Amino acid sequence: MVMLEFFWEIFQTKYIYDTKTDMRTRAREVESKTLDTKRDIRELEEKIDKLSLVCRALWTYVQENHSLSEEDLMEKIKEVDLMDGTADGKLTNRNVLKCKSCKRVVNKRHNKCIYCGSEGKFESIFETL
Ligand SMILES: [Zn+2]
Repeated sequence: MVMLEFFWEIFQTKYIYDTKTDMRTRAREVESKTLDTKRDIRELEEKIDKLSLVCRALWTYVQENHSLSEEDLMEKIKEVDLMDGTADGKLTNRNVLKCKSCKRVVNKRHNKCIYCGSEGKFESIFETL
């Protein structure tokens, strides 16, 4: 009986050791993924900051050269916001667009329309973004 308890103790010790090792490995993987995600977020924030700067510079240029007001800009934003069918302050359905030849809905990841084979399926450069 003592021998059985001894082997049981060895088994449990080994199980606990393996579990701790596995948990440490998983913790390192999660920590690594977290660092990757933080880096990705930082890169996206930098891109947003640069895009904001470009948008602001473009708006300032257009405003100064075409005598437009902030109200004109706000009206145009509302108009463009509705282009995706929803007034929600953003453009969505970015992966869905219509073929300019057959007007069917196609995914922008395909190089040409899967229905009619038409290339150059985009009606606007913004559909490629
Ligand atoms: Zn087509």
